[in-house]
Amino acid sequence: MPNPAQPQRQQQLIELDQKHVWHPYSATGTDQAETCYLVDSAEGVHIQLADGRQAIDGMSSWWCALHGYQHPMLDQALIQQSQKMSHIMFGGLSHQPAIELAQLLVDITPKGLNKVFFSDSGSVAVEVAIKMALQYWHSQGQPKKQKLLTVKNGYHGDTFAAMAVCDPVNGMHHLFQQSLSQHFFAEAPPAGFERQRQSQDLEQLELLLQQHQHEIAAVIIEPIVQGAGGMRFYAPAYLKQLHQLCRQYHVLFIADEIATGFGRSGKLFACEHAAISPDILCLGKALTGGYMTLAATLCNDKVAAGICQGEAGVFMHGPTFMANPLACAVALASCRLLLQGDWQAKVAMIEQQLITGLAPLKKSNKVADVRILGAIGVVEMKQAVAKAPLQESLLEQGVWLRPFGKLVYTMPPFICDQANINKICAAMVASLA
Ligand code: PMP
Repeated sequence: MPNPAQPQRQQQLIELDQKHVWHPYSATGTDQAETCYLVDSAEGVHIQLADGRQAIDGMSSWWCALHGYQHPMLDQALIQQSQKMSHIMFGGLSHQPAIELAQLLVDITPKGLNKVFFSDSGSVAVEVAIKMALQYWHSQGQPKKQKLLTVKNGYHGDTFAAMAVCDPVNGMHHLFQQSLSQHFFAEAPPAGFERQRQSQDLEQLELLLQQHQHEIAAVIIEPIVQGAGGMRFYAPAYLKQLHQLCRQYHVLFIADEIATGFGRSGKLFACEHAAISPDILCLGKALTGGYMTLAATLCNDKVAAGICQGEAGVFMHGPTFMANPLACAVALASCRLLLQGDWQAKVAMIEQQLITGLAPLKKSNKVADVRILGAIGVVEMKQAVAKAPLQESLLEQGVWLRPFGKLVYTMPPFICDQANINKICAAMVASLA
């Protein structure tokens, strides 16, 4: 690994960071400004801190780094593509990495999703999905269908259309109330992947559909795993019935698989747990194995044809960096690597290790719940945790996690071995019990 910056320079960098750089959901230039850890490099499952400490990345850089860092095949894909072209405008021009990636995504996602729209980030993929749904109904002569229906505890991104469908309490609704579109929110799906469906589970949601179907363009939901809005798991039967209700009430179904896509929940896509195919699917995060920012919104032929037969005749969106060739090339390499490898066995191993390793926390009176699904392990505490000391304690044990509120959770890279997962669990147990 390269030599880290000299201690004096490290200190300067950290101070400059605090002075000038804004980090996610953070303050800058005030006493509240967080002191970030300086990262020097990352390789395999490890992050190398500039202060000399090494930690397993238990977050996979926020669900992204499936294959870990500096994977030779992904590095190679980037280098090779950079020697051909790093970027080219996508209007009127196309290229092999985008075309092959689109074909691969069509092949591996639920049946019927045949059209791929690339964009820059997860939030933008959600904006695109919402725009598709609105434009679809507009072109069907139903311009009143402008609203979305979603569930509480959801999270879909930080841009305005995405923010408007995030949980109205946990999200940022109160701050931006005046600027956000108003949508319909049903109660969150009842918790528990294993839960047997009860007749009342979707009653309220169905009522909203009955009463407002003429104004609802689409339902948007994170299939099976609600991520940043609470790290909750719910049952496939709920998802299946919701999908059926959308058909019944002529409402499009948008699945946001930005976090769950590419194997994280134990299926390649979480929709597979319920054997459903959404009308519109959002992908991001792990799409490039965590190397670059790239997202995709897929839709079925019905939605695409509806949009293109409408008044505009075209879909009204086109980001400058759409289908960036470097990002597409590395995404293609990452997806191929995933599909060629035995990802199911790896995720199953991680799931088993998390079940065993986090079990001691179930007995702690500070812990409200321990839940595991696929390569996701969540510990929900009874009280909000003190983030900074907890992170420091975990780091001292060689593990990087980013808790928020009452939630301390891990979604490790799939290349972790048993010892890595045990280390993550042991650090969580030691720091939380
Ligand atoms: N949807 C979901 C389900 C997500 O988890 C996220 C990111 N946490 C987003 C959308 C937004 O993605 P991005 O941060 O890349 O804009």
